[in-house]
Amino acid sequence: MYAKFCVSRETANAFIRLFVNRRAYAIQAVCPLPNGTVPYYPVRDWKTKEPKLLDEGAVRMHLNGDITISLYAINPETQRSKWVAIDADFDGALESLFQLQWELKQDGVEAALEQSRRGGHLWIFGAEPLLASECRIYVYNLALRLGVPVKGGGLKEGIEVFPRQDRLGDGEFGNAIRAPLGVHRKTNRRYWFYEADLNPEAQLAYLDGLTKLTEAELRTFTQGMKLPEAYRPPVPAPYVPRNPSSQSTEFRILNYVRTTRKDSRNWWARCPSCAAAGRDRSGDNLSIQVKDPRLYKCWAGCTKEEIRAALGQPIRKRALA
Ligand SMILES: [Zn+2]
Repeated sequence: MYAKFCVSRETANAFIRLFVNRRAYAIQAVCPLPNGTVPYYPVRDWKTKEPKLLDEGAVRMHLNGDITISLYAINPETQRSKWVAIDADFDGALESLFQLQWELKQDGVEAALEQSRRGGHLWIFGAEPLLASECRIYVYNLALRLGVPVKGGGLKEGIEVFPRQDRLGDGEFGNAIRAPLGVHRKTNRRYWFYEADLNPEAQLAYLDGLTKLTEAELRTFTQGMKLPEAYRPPVPAPYVPRNPSSQSTEFRILNYVRTTRKDSRNWWARCPSCAAAGRDRSGDNLSIQVKDPRLYKCWAGCTKEEIRAALGQPIRKRALA
């Protein structure tokens, strides 16, 4: 069981200053689903269906242990994030995070390591909200230089960098990460930052005291750099069918999924069927052949029928002529 707290409004506001850059949020279910996952649900007003705004009250409940929230990195109005979180849960995850932490320190960037269920999260805080695209260029290049594996780009295991997107389109939320200092509902445990006492106040004071990364520094560190090729978001290229007359009858999966990246052979996207089951958080279970986008496959094993059904486009038995 986990410790309960009763934090003050000041403590909640210290948390908001560090972590909250966009007020939409999600809340973790209290009980696991039959498949063992404990999903997060975006918090919406039950009447208007509009996203509810994260406020001091919800943050206090999170810190006290009554609810567990997750946070979106990017504010779509500015395309900026207050922090970068590096999530690692593979074999050797902690070692990779320590390596990154040490290397960041050489740049004068103090990063804080938080425990997680299977590894850790390494957090870097901006002195001001930083462009998501620049944060990603910095961390991806740093990781590749160190030989730390980065998930995606052909690798199934590796670190995941939040913000997960360079920028958000209208109405998009991007990926959310479990907010620190709360209770993980899967294990009913709190996971703390290593360098401070195990209570919200001491933890936030420690995080407040870290040297923050400025935009000017970030610009210097990333000068002349780009996101490594394999991890660049795909340039959306409309598919032109060879036979336009078949367009209305033939199913094209690219019309239904949002691709997250592209490599020489495939587009990659979140598998709709996995998504319906609360899986494929990294959004790359589904591959769609670039050469022939009629061919697609879920690497977690969903069938074509399941994928089509999840899209509300069930495969129709061919009508008898
Ligand atoms: Zn799937």
